Amino acid sequence: MQVIFTNACVIDGISPTGRKNTAVIVDDATISWVGPMEQTGLADKSQSKVIDLAGKTLMPGLMDVHVHICQGTTPNPIAEYTETVPFQAIQGVTNASAFLNAGFTTVRSLGAFGYPDISVKEAVNQGLVPGPRILASGEMVMAHGSGEQGFMRPEVSFPKSGRFTGIEGARHAVRTQIYNGADVIKLIASGRVGSNAYTLPWDTEMTRDEMVAVCDEAHRFGRKVAAHAYSPDAVTDCTIAGVDSIEHGVMIDETTIELMAKNGTALVPTMTAFHNYLQPGAEERFPAYRLARGRPMAEIQQKNFSKYLEYGLTIATGSDGPRPGSHPGTTGLEMQLMVEAGMTTFQAVQATTSTASKVLGLKDKVGTIEVGKLADLIVVDGDPLADISILQNKEHIQLVMKNGSIVRSGLD
Ligand SMILES: [Zn+2]
Repeated sequence: MQVIFTNACVIDGISPTGRKNTAVIVDDATISWVGPMEQTGLADKSQSKVIDLAGKTLMPGLMDVHVHICQGTTPNPIAEYTETVPFQAIQGVTNASAFLNAGFTTVRSLGAFGYPDISVKEAVNQGLVPGPRILASGEMVMAHGSGEQGFMRPEVSFPKSGRFTGIEGARHAVRTQIYNGADVIKLIASGRVGSNAYTLPWDTEMTRDEMVAVCDEAHRFGRKVAAHAYSPDAVTDCTIAGVDSIEHGVMIDETTIELMAKNGTALVPTMTAFHNYLQPGAEERFPAYRLARGRPMAEIQQKNFSKYLEYGLTIATGSDGPRPGSHPGTTGLEMQLMVEAGMTTFQAVQATTSTASKVLGLKDKVGTIEVGKLADLIVVDGDPLADISILQNKEHIQLVMKNGSIVRSGLD
């Protein structure tokens, strides 16, 4: 099947401005032409589906590199510990469809106990249910006594497959995730702002040697490591140990930012999660301990964001959602917050397309509109480079194509 998009303004993920009056041709799953229509040499279009995109934008499918695909439909803050695994899988199916319909053709899910995320990925890959390309981590890898456990009373049984002590334990925990189908390893390197644990969010919860073992084991199997870490100390250890992306990193200072930039360690700021603590009415939605910890952290992130840009950190978009009140695909808010913090709209688009694909290890396949790439594309009514907020509104996403197949279209 051949699909020809004509007269599009193409944001390709590489060039900082849209390429006007451009044709993009998709043959089966792959982009085969990007350029002026008159130069294609195509005489007979009778066998092709031609879609005129005059006045519209064609851009790479969006990516959210930090989601929890099996959560977010209920307001229970410890849902992942109290809901059954099958119920989480059902949420995952619902969320997968919602992400795809909102223009997200790739997501990375970072943490689900009992592996419902892996099941949802398999179901999408087998064509049983609609959904984006999913990279899934399985269970989070963490040290025994992690703040993550602070969500539960000590005597309550806590998921064990990712929990470890010592270097051998770290290797075992990583191997267990890979055995269960993990595409990426989610490491909890520091405490949690969300749990009322005795360990604090900025505590580093394992030794650097344990982190090195996690990274070595993951990399040997070709898996990247995404580490939850907040403080300069924790992020420094992760960076030196070989972690590929720092998730949150809200408290990093200039020295840490410089080290990450030098090492090429990516940052996924997940501003949406922290922004929520500063909003009016936060007192009704979050417990006091969480606000007491989270608000000063959010303020550090807002203050230091310009330094991320100054040092040229590799930044990818991650919503850390969905959550009640922020539905799958409202990840556009994350882009808007990054723009408000100092990014250009083009940098925010890159963080959600081309840069995201690099962070996920998929840059040869998706993330840009180039000949030879898989056709993960969206049509936007309007210009996201002029107004990034339009990507939050599903009404503006008029067509979604994944792997060359049109999965939703309001253009017919
Ligand atoms: Zn998360």
